Amino acid sequence: MDTIRIKDKTFAVSIPEADIQREVARVANEINRDLDGQNPLFVSVLNGAFMFTADLMKHITIPCEISFVKLVSYAGTSSTGIVKEVIGLNEDIEGRTVVITEDIVDTGLTMQRLIADLEKHRPRAIHIASLLVKPGKLEVPLDIRYVAMNIPNDFIVGYGLDYDGWGRNYRDIYTVCNE
Ligand code: 5GP
Ligand code: MG
Repeated sequence: MDTIRIKDKTFAVSIPEADIQREVARVANEINRDLDGQNPLFVSVLNGAFMFTADLMKHITIPCEISFVKLVSYAGTSSTGIVKEVIGLNEDIEGRTVVITEDIVDTGLTMQRLIADLEKHRPRAIHIASLLVKPGKLEVPLDIRYVAMNIPNDFIVGYGLDYDGWGRNYRDIYTVCNE
């Protein structure tokens, strides 16, 4: 399946499964090497990171725990408009090494918000592992230590990422076609 159709848009394969799997395994090995002895807690951001997190964890060989959070957006009453609240973190992260696993960092605002929230609980360190980063769109300073792949600014789907809820199931990553 080189192209797929989701709702009103056509998408073409841009990152095949084999490339994704190779880079995910590389990131896992970097984490195994860097965080050995730290018993990290992986915090996966639902929904988008579910596939990346699952594949990453299959290559993690150091002792670790894994947890899942969700960021719920709602229209706030403040002037900032959309507010994102972190739900689902039940572990005590004080003094722990935390690795956030995320599908994609775009402007970086979501990640900045999540880190600010986690820091309130005084972890030892917070590292970011993102499947994808769009360096051209980053608006805030973020130290993204583990990146599987940098990509251009185009909209993508597949491998956990959706277009309006659809397309998360594909094993390859697809980029939207300009029509
Ligand atoms: P940020 O706060 O970094 O701008 O946005 C991060 C979120 O925007 C991601 O977690 C993801 O849900 C969404 N996002 C950004 N770029 C894309 C994209 O190209 N495709 C999809 N499906 N979601 C994206
Ligand atoms: Mg996400």
